[in-house]
Formats: sequence, structure tokens, C-alpha cells
Amino acid sequence: MKKIAVAGTGYVGLVAGVCFAEMGHSVTCVDIDEEKVNLMRSGVSPIFEDRLEELMQKNYAAGRIEYTTDYASAYEEADAIFIGVGTPEQPDGSANLSYIATVARQIAESVVKDCLVVVKSTVPVGTNDKVEQFISDFLVNDVRVEVASNPEFLAQGSAVKDTLYAERIIIGTESTWAEELLTELYQPFNLPIVSVNRRSAEMIKYASNDFLALKISYMNDIANLCELVGADVQDVAKGMSFDDRIGSKFLNAGIGYGGSCFPKDTKALEHIAQQHGYDLRTVKAAINVNTDQKTMLYKKARNRLITFNGLKVAVLGLTFKPGTDDLREAASLENVPLLLEQGADVYAFDPVGAENFARVHPEGQHGRGSITYVASVEEALQDANVCFIFTEWGEVKAVTPAMYKNLMRTSLVYDGRNIYPVADMQAVGVEYHSIGRQAVE
Ligand code: NAD
Repeated sequence: MKKIAVAGTGYVGLVAGVCFAEMGHSVTCVDIDEEKVNLMRSGVSPIFEDRLEELMQKNYAAGRIEYTTDYASAYEEADAIFIGVGTPEQPDGSANLSYIATVARQIAESVVKDCLVVVKSTVPVGTNDKVEQFISDFLVNDVRVEVASNPEFLAQGSAVKDTLYAERIIIGTESTWAEELLTELYQPFNLPIVSVNRRSAEMIKYASNDFLALKISYMNDIANLCELVGADVQDVAKGMSFDDRIGSKFLNAGIGYGGSCFPKDTKALEHIAQQHGYDLRTVKAAINVNTDQKTMLYKKARNRLITFNGLKVAVLGLTFKPGTDDLREAASLENVPLLLEQGADVYAFDPVGAENFARVHPEGQHGRGSITYVASVEEALQDANVCFIFTEWGEVKAVTPAMYKNLMRTSLVYDGRNIYPVADMQAVGVEYHSIGRQAVE
């Protein structure tokens, strides 16, 4: 059993902390957000993730995990300190490393014994070297602090499962001591470990995320062409998926990728390439396709309707994907403001994301338009002139084609998630536009 501290209790830090506690380690999670810390101490998870709250409560009761804002007490005696703070995108596309630097400084001022600092946050290649130097520059006590890279691959919505049953653990180290300690920490998980040097570990994270982003943008590009040539992208994807070299995952065309990782990590890698005088053309293409994809349905609808002014617009789903309350880079965040600008009366439904969305777009009038948050899909659809589907929540998938026909004033549906077979919508007389498939009018 090792003493672990975790800096940052977001999706990555909190889930890692809870899972290390579940594996028997003694964990202290640190965050600067006092409100968050108090919430976690009372057994409430600040984020929505399957099983997270249950494991927080179980391990808190067992005395294996605690939460604090007092970083010094958490870091001073730790065997390993995991850093899981944010590395958000800056205006030029590069990653903002200021949160990492703050934690590095706090660690340097706090540690009183040798320890391993493990960077879980996604950081540009070479950052771990700099963090190690930075800590050494500011070290107060005469101790040894080494830095290792351990990028995180969890997906929001299945974060706990993805951590407990990860497909691989990547560890990037520069010494046998660091490699052995990290391997020991992960030993109870009994998962495949890939051990490489620090720079390769940092690169594996970007290369993996950007590959997935590319796969999505590729399918969206193909989908747009499918519409023009009379093919059906879902049939195309099905046919492709039988090829082991392609695989069956991430072949769904849709309204583009969102979330806190793909958009930021594609831009960050492109920025890294630029700094090295290299033109990373494939990743650039993925970014460009995604930018256009996000407002594609809005543009189609605007052309079809001429104006949204005074129309009731049902918006089903606000989060960037189901199973999370996260809105970062969600398609809704681009489309809803466009609809409001155009004078639409938006009726938005999301089972968990509405509260966060209302912080950015409070209920009420916005210029010519307005937004109302409703508790059911029926309320959103009742007498609506048009409906946009942005997130494929179970509650949204449960809406039958007949409900659009019967509840809406005009059954005009723009589906960014290809939820329905086109023929089913056609059968009940719904005008249905989706991605990469022929529209039915
Ligand atoms: P997040 O924004 O949800 O959480 C970051 C947390 O760090 C916040 O709670 C913030 O209050 C806290 N924090 C900031 N400064 C601090 C400090 N000095 N000490 C302690 N806490 C501090 O971030 P996230 O989504 O968990 O992402 C963290 C990193 O992991 C990013 O680099 C991201 O790219 C990477 N990542 C995220 C995911 C994901 O799905 N969210 C997956 C893999 C990797």
C-alpha cells in the first residue's frame, strides 16, 4: 500500500484517486476549489460518472481516500503525486500549462521525502522534462523528485470502468526506480503495462486521441459525400467494419466530435508540429472537417426555413455525448446561440446537462430569441416547428417516429446522431434530415 496524492479532482484526477483507493492505496485528493472539496467530503461527486459516487462513499468510509485544499499536507509525505489538472487550449491552439506549473511549484515547496511526480494531464511532448527541472529549481528540501508520464485514456461517460479495466497503462519513465514504483502502484489493477520513455508516452496520448479524431472526421467527410452521391453512410460503415484493419468502432458519422479532449488535443499537436516546422496535414484536415460539421445541420435547416424568427425549436440533448454532464465543445454550444440570434424560441431538453447549459445561457429572453429548459422530451416537442437532436441520450432514443409526427406542429427533424432508420421516419411522414443519408421530405 502506497501513499498517493492527486492534484486536481476533475474527470481524470478524481477518477484516478478513487480507483487507486479502490485498489487499496491510501489517497489524498487535492483541489483548489473549496466548494468541490466540501461536496466530495459529504460523499457527493462534483461530476456525473457511472459508479463514481458509490466508490467515493465506499472508500471514504473505509478511510482510504480523503479530500483537501491543503496541498502541503497532502504532498509532503506522499510516495507519488499524480497531476490531473487541466491543460486547456490557448487562443493559438497550444496547451495552457499554467495549472501544471502551479502544482509543480506547490510540490517543490511541500515535499519532505523522495517522491515520484506523475503527470496524468495531457501535455506537449517535452513537458515532463520541464516539470522535473522546474520542481528541482524550486525544491525547498534536500530530496529526490523525479517525474514520470502516465497519460490517461478514459472516456467521459465510462470513466470508472475505463480506469478499472483499462486496455493499457502507458508509463513513461527515465529511470528504473520510477518505472518500478509506477509498475508497483498499478500492480493491483492487473492490466497490461506499456513502458516507454517520457517523450514517447507524451506522444502516445496525442497520437491516440488525434487518430480517433481523424477517424471521426474521415467518416463525417465520407458521410457528406454519401449524401451527394446517393449512398447511405451507415451501410457504408457497416460494410467497412468487417475489415479487422479498420475495426468497427468510431465509424459513426454525426455532428462532429466535442468534449474536452479531441478538439484541444488535435489543435495542440498541430501547434507542436508547427513549432518544429512540420505541417501535420492529416490532423489539420480532421480539425477543418470537424469545424464545418458542427453547424452543418443548422445551415441546412436555415436554408430550408429561411428564418427561425418566432419558431419553436426543440433541442434534444445538450452535452457533447451521453453519460456525462460535460458541455465542453458540445455542438449545442455552437448551434443554440445561432438559433437564438435568429430569433428562435428554443425549448431544450437534457437529462443532466441543462443546469450547466443554463449557466452559460440562462433561461429567458436572449435578444429576439428565448430559451426554456424543459424536463421531458414531450414538452420540448409539443407544437414545435423544428427539432434538432444533438445528443443520443436514452430518453431521446426512446422517442418514437410517431411522437414527432403527433406532438410537433411541423414534424421537421434534424438528427445529428442518426438515431432513426430513415425508412421509419418516412413511414410516419416526418421530414427527416440526418448525416450521410438521404433526406426524406
Ligand atoms: P477538469 O477541468 O475536469 O479538472 C481539473 C481540476 O483541477 C479542477 O477541479 C481544478 O479546480 C483543479 N485544479 C486546478 N489547479 C489546481 C491546483 N493547483 N491544485 C489542485 N487542483 C487544481 O480536467 P479534466 O477533464 O479532468 O482533465 C485534466 C487533464 O487530463 C487534461 O490535461 C485533459 O486533457 C486530460 N484528460 C482528460 C480526459 C477527459 O475525458 N476529461 C481524458 C484523458 C485526459
